[in-house]
Amino acid sequence: MSKKWVYLFREVEEAEEYAGDWEGVRGLLGGKGANLAEMTRIGVPVPPGFTATTEACNAYLEVGEQFPEGMWDQMLAAMKTVEEETGKTFGDPTNPLLVSCRSGAKFSMPGMMDTVLNIGLNDKTAQGMVQLTENETFVYNSYRRLVQMFGSVVLGISDEEFEHAITERKEERGIKDDTELNADDWKALTEEFKAIVRKHKGFDFPQDPVEQLKLATEAVFKSWNGKPAIAYRNRENIPHDLGTGVNIVTMVFGNMGWDSGTGVTFTRNPATGEKELYGDYLLNAQGEDVVAGIRNTKDIEELQDEMPEVYQEFVQICDRLEHHYREMQDVEFTIERGKLWMLQTRNGKRTAKAAIKIAVDMTSEALISKEEAVQRVRPQHVDALLHPQFDPKAKDRAREEGTYLASGVNASPGAAVGIAAFDADLAEQWGLAGKEVIMVRPETKPDDVHGMIASRGILTSRGGATSHAAVVARQFGTPAVVGCEAIVIDLETRLLEVNGKVVKEGEWVSIDGTTGEVFAGQIATQAPSFEEQSELRQLLEWADAICAEDGVRSWPGDYAGFPTKGLQVWANADYPRDAQRARQFGARGIGLCRTEHMFFEEERLPIVQAMILSKSSEERKLHLDKLLPFQREDFAGLFEAMDGLPVIIRLIDPPLHEFLPSKDDLLVEVTEMRMKAARLEKKGKKKKLAKLEAKLADKEKMLQAVESLEEANPMMGLRGIRLGITMPEITQMQVRAIFEAACDKAKEGIDVHPEIMIPLTGHYNELDVANKLLVPVAKDVMDEKGIEIDYKFGTMLEIPRAAVTADQVAEYAEFFSFGTNDLTQMTFGYSRDDAERNFLLYYVEHGILPNNPFQTLDRDGVGQLVKMGVRRGRQTRPELEVGICGEHGGDPNSIEFCHIAGLNYVSCSPFRVPVARLAAAHAALDHSA
Ligand code: PEP
Ligand code: MG
Repeated sequence: MSKKWVYLFREVEEAEEYAGDWEGVRGLLGGKGANLAEMTRIGVPVPPGFTATTEACNAYLEVGEQFPEGMWDQMLAAMKTVEEETGKTFGDPTNPLLVSCRSGAKFSMPGMMDTVLNIGLNDKTAQGMVQLTENETFVYNSYRRLVQMFGSVVLGISDEEFEHAITERKEERGIKDDTELNADDWKALTEEFKAIVRKHKGFDFPQDPVEQLKLATEAVFKSWNGKPAIAYRNRENIPHDLGTGVNIVTMVFGNMGWDSGTGVTFTRNPATGEKELYGDYLLNAQGEDVVAGIRNTKDIEELQDEMPEVYQEFVQICDRLEHHYREMQDVEFTIERGKLWMLQTRNGKRTAKAAIKIAVDMTSEALISKEEAVQRVRPQHVDALLHPQFDPKAKDRAREEGTYLASGVNASPGAAVGIAAFDADLAEQWGLAGKEVIMVRPETKPDDVHGMIASRGILTSRGGATSHAAVVARQFGTPAVVGCEAIVIDLETRLLEVNGKVVKEGEWVSIDGTTGEVFAGQIATQAPSFEEQSELRQLLEWADAICAEDGVRSWPGDYAGFPTKGLQVWANADYPRDAQRARQFGARGIGLCRTEHMFFEEERLPIVQAMILSKSSEERKLHLDKLLPFQREDFAGLFEAMDGLPVIIRLIDPPLHEFLPSKDDLLVEVTEMRMKAARLEKKGKKKKLAKLEAKLADKEKMLQAVESLEEANPMMGLRGIRLGITMPEITQMQVRAIFEAACDKAKEGIDVHPEIMIPLTGHYNELDVANKLLVPVAKDVMDEKGIEIDYKFGTMLEIPRAAVTADQVAEYAEFFSFGTNDLTQMTFGYSRDDAERNFLLYYVEHGILPNNPFQTLDRDGVGQLVKMGVRRGRQTRPELEVGICGEHGGDPNSIEFCHIAGLNYVSCSPFRVPVARLAAAHAALDHSA
């Protein structure tokens, strides 16, 4: 017997048995097929039908587009069963069965693949249907739709040609809406469409329903490898080998008159997350009329007045589906002569804001647990919520200045500013060139997706909240305003116009996807307030609680000292204001304060330079004494902001030449000054010459200093701990400043926990020397101030040797922090400053490397050094505190690795702290003990 390629909707148990679990069923039948089967099982009204599996699709594509053995026979047998269930017969003019053929992959790919409706209609069955329904308008509208969809989807004829014929007809008849076309119009259009098929293909539209079914099934299989589908999968990281299912569903008609209709509804608002039905419907229409945005839809609430009983049943079904799936659903339904049918349900796509609100609300409603809520929100959702909005004042000003154009549907929130591009290709071209683009279209279609991906925002003049543009934009987190009807888009002259105001292609436009407003020009944006986002804060508190649980990590017995709680999230912050923000965002400590950043400030740089140019240790000390109060003040602010939490302060790290002017600039200046001096001498201008020579001497001194500090490989040169050892006065001043600040603040009652971090250690002897130079300074200050404070001395692990010898290093370090920027640089031997521009991006694009290792921690190489460093370090010192402060500390994938490797915390920039808190909880849940 051949393999089972086809499952009736009522055969969900068989599918489960074969596929193992629900995930398997979704993989086998595709999301749509699995859910149709599941709805059938729980007694929701679904029209009879069946699914040809994704395995059949893959087999079909693999063997050069041939149905696998037995599949077609199984489809024909399943058709027979559907005939029995419906009491109708496929191809029988007296009582014809009509079906739709719909794609459905494991992961929803809205609008990316094909659908054909009304299969089974031909000249004869159409006549039969007229007799049955006594509704010629409906029948010929359905028939022309089949020819149109078959022509475009199966036979590859441009849909515009069919649409053009409809538009022409309406113009001739002086009408606006498709519903005003009568039976004669649709009949004539059906014939016209058949002629279009003949003209393009040289054969007639197939009259045989079985052939229609076969060709439509093949077209859906093939659409898995269509350009839009591939682009979408690349964008969404969906594997290319999943295949699509084909669902054959008995047609039910929403266009049988004004007691019929069709709609698309979310069980909660997908933009805001509010618990309310959100969607549109149309009476006397078929499904894609709603989605295509050609006719203006009605809000789902209006159905309550138009068909109260159907509405009640619909509300109950929505509730049942939400409870069954424990997720917000996106449903499609049709009402055929007063009878409600559900055609689809799936987990609804949503904005970041909605994702978070729904997760938190469903927890309060006891539908899901806190852990599930945390797992349902993705790091990119949190990211999007911290994205910019229009600055209200700038928006008011824009209004006053009259740049407001119009308002449409607020389909996907967030503010976006860009130049208008009127087609997807141009949007993509400009976007790839680094321009900020708003793609402006009357409506969008699946083959516009590449342009949407490259755009900052989407603006359309047609379509509603469930139109293609809205659904896709929401999913990408791209702000979108759709159905902005007041805007007239002229694709010929490449401009949009509203009441005489014009925006041409390439001119700026600003859209507010949160409110639906559209403005000409650029409006300033601002980051949203984290404080106001109560649901996000709630969710992140749950995330923290998950990580703080004892026992979420467990380790093999010989693995001493590993934390059993999850990761904490700390922040990299140099200034008190950054520390405050980090704390607001939920950071539990400062993991890295790069002290040298403060050296660059205007009033300090000259002191730093004078210190570098000093001839002796004494002279250097004099200048350092002037720097000390500044540093003390900086540190005092940090301790205050982080009252009660650890603050890791790293001693000076970069090579000194970074604080001096560039050699090239100095050479130019010195040469110009010398030439000018020669001219002044010639002219005998002694006073001016003397002044200039004094300046020249200073510059030459600086040039000499720069030349003397010049190194062939400065990143591997005199920096980090090496600098601290050869010029101990600098780090001694820093330690004094840290302890003076700490002692002063401790006396004020602030709970200070300074941790002194030494960068770039390669050999434990370096740390031994540094400790001997610095610990006495700390002790002296505490003696002077008469107060003891809790502190640690530790080091960064940034050099492979330090990681490999971490057991020795840990003898001298009370904590480790992985500086994975340098560690990646030194492990790969790639310059972190040049690699990206020279070859690294090429490597990533061509698959030579899976990721940019400066963004995503290289688990196989750098990661092994991290693991080794942690393990060996804790062999010596079981309580060793270990963190990461390289850029990877804010990257979700790398955070997961840090959890696995046994780090205590990750430290990242303040704005990434919320994302990192979520990622840390995901790691804890995904790898829980
Ligand atoms: C690192 O190397 O990862 C690090 C945090 O230090 P910096 O980036 O300052 O070199
Ligand atoms: Mg470093």
